[in-house]
Amino acid sequence: MSTVALITGAASGIGAAVARRLARGGARCVLVDVDADGAERLAKELDGTAVAGDVTDRDTSARAVATAERAYGRLDLVHLNAGISSGVDLTAFDPDQYRKAVGVNVDGVVYGVAESLPALTRGGGGAIVVTSSLAGLVAYDGDPVYTMTKHAVVGLVRGLAKPLAASGVRIGAVCPGFTDTPLVAGMRDVFLGAGFPLLDAEDVAAAVETAFYSEEPGTILIVQPGRAPVPYR
Ligand code: NAD
Repeated sequence: MSTVALITGAASGIGAAVARRLARGGARCVLVDVDADGAERLAKELDGTAVAGDVTDRDTSARAVATAERAYGRLDLVHLNAGISSGVDLTAFDPDQYRKAVGVNVDGVVYGVAESLPALTRGGGGAIVVTSSLAGLVAYDGDPVYTMTKHAVVGLVRGLAKPLAASGVRIGAVCPGFTDTPLVAGMRDVFLGAGFPLLDAEDVAAAVETAFYSEEPGTILIVQPGRAPVPYR
């Protein structure tokens, strides 16, 4: 029986690398993204199923979980990965920009957990991994609201780890440093400098897989270029 995985923000970057890695290992993947064409393209490539939708809408998570169970009969692994930088400037506050960042990076994760838990429990356990960031553990003054949202989901993972373990569901997070994806395109030359070492999305995908299968509830992995992931305690 194949493992069934649901990945949000699957059309690009880290999410796409995780989907490809899990599919190479034989998993059936449900690929959720607001970029409907991108999700559909990857679904064709991986013989998976695309779900077009915005994770700020709770119904997107509900539809994705229902799709996994309808198409593949179960749900085992959930990667809550969709995320955006906020760009919020608190000296020229734009409430819509703020709500969007919190909506994608925090609400999207909360909805993903809430909607997938019943299916994971029905399947007898399984695991959730959230993509936080190094900015979820330390100050990143380039984008304080992004830093806030990434700390928030680390808090959620830490708070849920023990209660979920009691029902057989593992939850963890990965906290990558800067990774070479479209999210940081443009940033490298402007802010980081041309020689700044970036992670490859595949390095992060390997850490996500490690976190999925970690026996320890609430595993949080720090991922940095050129070294093995380090658990945060
Ligand atoms: P990316 O821009 O390459 O991919 C993000 C994907 O999420 C895109 O396909 C996008 O369409 C999708 N998405 C955005 N908003 C969405 C929404 N509302 N609903 C559904 N899908 C949505 O970026 P990435 O670098 O692969 O980022 C993935 C995750 O990794 C994010 O949570 C990001 O914060 C985190 N992260 C990235 C870095 C980095 O340096 N790239 C570092 C640490 C953490």
